[in-house]
Amino acid sequence: MATVTAKSEVKATRVATPKVRQTKLLINGKWQDAVSGKTFATVNPATEEVIAQVAEGDAADVDLAAKAARKAFESGPWSKMDARDRGRLINKLADLMEQNIDELAALETLDNGKPVRDSRAADLPLAIDCLRYYAGWADKLTGETIPIRGNYFCYTRREPMGVVGQIIPWNFPLLMVAWKWGPALAAGCTIVMKPAEQTPLTALRVGELAMEAGFPAGVINLIPGYGPTAGAALVKHPQVDKIAFTGEHRTAQIIMGDAAQTLKRLTFELGGKSPNVIFADADLDAAVAGTEFGLFFNQGQCCCAGSRVFVEEKIHAEFVSKLVQRAALRKLGDPLHPDTMQGPQVDRDQFDKILSYIAKGNAAGAKCVAGGKRHGDKGFFIEPTIFDHVTDDMAIATDEIFGPVLSVLPFKSTEEVIERANSTMFGLAAAVWTRDVGKAHQFAKNVRAGTVWVNCYDVFDAAAPFGGFKMSGIGRELGSAALQNYTELKTVTMALD
Ligand code: ADP
Repeated sequence: MATVTAKSEVKATRVATPKVRQTKLLINGKWQDAVSGKTFATVNPATEEVIAQVAEGDAADVDLAAKAARKAFESGPWSKMDARDRGRLINKLADLMEQNIDELAALETLDNGKPVRDSRAADLPLAIDCLRYYAGWADKLTGETIPIRGNYFCYTRREPMGVVGQIIPWNFPLLMVAWKWGPALAAGCTIVMKPAEQTPLTALRVGELAMEAGFPAGVINLIPGYGPTAGAALVKHPQVDKIAFTGEHRTAQIIMGDAAQTLKRLTFELGGKSPNVIFADADLDAAVAGTEFGLFFNQGQCCCAGSRVFVEEKIHAEFVSKLVQRAALRKLGDPLHPDTMQGPQVDRDQFDKILSYIAKGNAAGAKCVAGGKRHGDKGFFIEPTIFDHVTDDMAIATDEIFGPVLSVLPFKSTEEVIERANSTMFGLAAAVWTRDVGKAHQFAKNVRAGTVWVNCYDVFDAAAPFGGFKMSGIGRELGSAALQNYTELKTVTMALD
């Protein structure tokens, strides 16, 4: 009996701090220093200590990478490879990621601060699944035969778009690599990727695995560096055919301007201020749990975070009390410890920005019913924070905070809540909790958002398209829809007499 008790008290042990293996640029299959010789520090947000110095790419490195990618696209082995063999390579990369899953999850946690239980259970499996999903598409991109007037044979071909520039953010560093590489590689494009300056390490490690898998030189190039230098150079480069960007809408506006000169194809996955609507007839405990997950997952650093929680007046008090109880149970701390549920925000800028929004919420008269402060005195930790009695005009209800700050807004009727849910410039995601099927469909039809979750939140699958209405984006990622982002349609017409 005593042994059993002792055993059950043994806590899961902290995951060892992973080794950083790769900090250079990947250009044309070779790892190299930046032309300028410059490096930048990547910081552990849980300790504020420098993890490693990483090569800092800029316009000169982007130029080398874009030319290597162009050559690989035009004349390298990749351009002649059978589509099914491209699929095999993508699968091989997924297998290598799976073989190194613990190391990659720990590295993601070290660089980004997300709890290792999330990186191990969500980011990594989703990234691997995404690559496998697109590996299956490589040999299934077909055209059509078209019955045009006259004696002609008319058909379409779906061809790779060319060299694609991919610029990704820091909130899901490795998952964004998979979302971007999967469809681009399946389509036969070549890639120059700029990871976020806050979190370059897992992309570089996966770059190593891609080389081990056997991707030919120049197919995948990685240029860590800053947005206004490396990112902007990629957007302006004449040899780059397309930019796929995930990040803030303000950055997308700059990119759109910079891309005008070369008329690049653009796809954007941007921010949100997603409404999460709880009707009085919902399964309350499920709605509370889903609401907690929908906002606090990933420290609130999700573009689809359910940050405006509309609660029907009849259940408002009960719902808020249950939500506050759940928020109090969230364990903050060392993200490499498997018990930790919430890690630090990614960097000091985000940390300061979130605290300034909490101050704005208090100043505007919203009632802070949970959290509201920094947690501890080292690392960028912020308590799970809930504001009640928020009104639609407050900054905490209109602006994307990108942190663990949830706003509760009471409502009375379905029509009212749909109108209020839509009164935002964003349109990425929305959720509704109700047992009334009619009400659920009415909401799903009328809300202007790219994804609607009914009685669930943050359910992602590589096969289900994701992207925004309005200022939340252009185009869709995931699913067959993402393949459109990386292919051009060619029409061929042949005279038959
Ligand atoms: P976040 O607030 O999430 O960091 P950003 O939009 O600033 O969002 O950053 C997302 C990505 O866009 C990062 O990789 C960043 O370096 C890059 N980026 C920032 N500014 C520019 C720019 N002017 N041109 C191209 N990329 C940029």
